[in-house]
Amino acid sequence: MARIVVVGSGFAGVEAVRRLTGLGLCERGECVWVTSRPSMVFLPLVPALVSRRYRPEDVEWSVEAYAGRLGVSLVAKRATAVEEGRIRLEDGETIDFDYAVIAAGARPAFYGVPGAEELSLTVYGAEEAWRLGGMIEEGRIQSMVVVGAGFVGVEVAAEALWLARRLGRELRVTLVDMLQEPLQLLGNEKASRLARRLLEEMGAGFRMGQPVTRVYEGGVELKDGSRVEGDVVIWSAGLRGPGIEAPREALARGGFLRVDEYLRVPGLGGRVYAAGDATEFRRGQCVALKMAREALRSAARAVNNIAARMQGAGEKPYHPLITSYRPLAGITLGPEEGILVLGKRLALRSNLAHWYHERVRRLYQELLAGKP
Ligand SMILES: Cc1cc2nc3c(=O)[nH]c(=O)nc-3n(C[C@H](O)[C@H](O)[C@H](O)COP(=O)(O)OP(=O)(O)OC[C@H]3O[C@@H](n4cnc5c(N)ncnc54)[C@H](O)[C@@H]3O)c2cc1C
Repeated sequence: MARIVVVGSGFAGVEAVRRLTGLGLCERGECVWVTSRPSMVFLPLVPALVSRRYRPEDVEWSVEAYAGRLGVSLVAKRATAVEEGRIRLEDGETIDFDYAVIAAGARPAFYGVPGAEELSLTVYGAEEAWRLGGMIEEGRIQSMVVVGAGFVGVEVAAEALWLARRLGRELRVTLVDMLQEPLQLLGNEKASRLARRLLEEMGAGFRMGQPVTRVYEGGVELKDGSRVEGDVVIWSAGLRGPGIEAPREALARGGFLRVDEYLRVPGLGGRVYAAGDATEFRRGQCVALKMAREALRSAARAVNNIAARMQGAGEKPYHPLITSYRPLAGITLGPEEGILVLGKRLALRSNLAHWYHERVRRLYQELLAGKP
C-alpha cells in the first residue's frame, strides 16, 4: 500500500488530489492531504473583492467536505520541511510517504526592503482584498500606492479606481515599478501600452523605472530619494517560494522548488514531485509562468508520472503551455475592461477573462461547496 502525500490546497493541490482519486490511487493505497489552510482560494478573482464584484465566500471554499467525500485524510497544518520519504509539520510531527506532490504555492517577496512586509498590504488572500475595498468604501483612504505593476498590481489598481468612481469617492492611485512599463515581464509591448492607457483613463498615475527602497507609514521612498505618498501601500512586487525547507540542491533562487523535466525535485530520492507556483520550471532562458492553468497542468503531469511509476511504466516530461516565451493571460481591469495577451505580439482589449473566470469559479464552487 503506497502512501501519497499532497501538500497544498490551491489549484495544483486540488487537481493532484482529484486526479489521484480519479486514478484509484487513494483507494488502492493511502492519500494524505496536508494544507496550512484547509480551503481553496480562487486567487484570480481576489482583486475583484476590492471592488465588491465578489464576496469572500464566492472565492474561497473549505476543502474538508471534499476530502471527506474522496476518502482522503486531511491534515490542516503547515509543512515546514521535506526530506527523503518524510514531510515535517509545524508542530514537529512527521508524515512518511512513498510519493509526494508539493503544491504549496508561492508567497509575496519583499526583497528585504525595509518596512515592506510590516507596513504594506499584499492582496494575496481574500481577507486582505476585502479589507482594502472596505477602506475605500468607508472613505478611510484617499490615496494608494501600488508597488509592482505586474498583472496583480494593475488588476488591484483598476478595481480600486472603479469602486471609488462608483461611490463618488476621491482616490489617487499611483503604480510604482522598477521596470519602465506595466506588465513588462510578459514581454508584450502592446499589452503594456494598452494597460497603461486604460489605467490612465481610469485615473491612475505611474512612477516607473525606480525601485522602492523603503516603505514608511504614508508612502514609499524610491532609489532617487523621491517619495510617493499614499494612505495605503499595496505590495505586489514579486513572489518567493513557499518557505518549505529542503536540501540545498532542491531549492532555486527565491526558495522555489527546482524540478526536472518530469517534475521531480532533485536531492530528495526521486519520489518527491512539485507542481504549480511552488516550482521553478526553467529550460535555459524559458520559464513556465506562475498561472492557474500551469498549476493544473503540472499537478496532473506529476500525478500521472507517479501513477506510471507505480505501474512500472515510463514517466512523461512536462511541457509548459504558458511560458516567458509564450505568455498567455487574461487580465481584468475592473468589471468593464480587460486585456487578452496572446503571445509576445498580440494583445486585445477584451472581456473574455471576466467570463472565463466566472465559468471556472462556478466549476470549483460546485466541486468543493456543492451546487449554489
Ligand atoms: C491576486 C492574484 C491574481 C491572479 N490572477 C490570475 C489570473 O487571472 N489568471 C491566472 O492564470 N493566474 C492568476 N494568478 C496566479 C494563480 O492564482 C496561481 O498561479 C495559482 O493560484 C497557483 O496555484 P498553486 O496551487 O500552485 O498555488 P496556490 O493557489 O497559491 O495554493 C497554494 C496552497 O498551498 C497551501 N500552503 C502554502 N504553504 C504551505 C505549507 N508550508 N504547508 C502546507 N500548505 C501550504 C496554501 O494554503 C494553498 O492552499 C493570480 C494570483 C494572484 C495572487
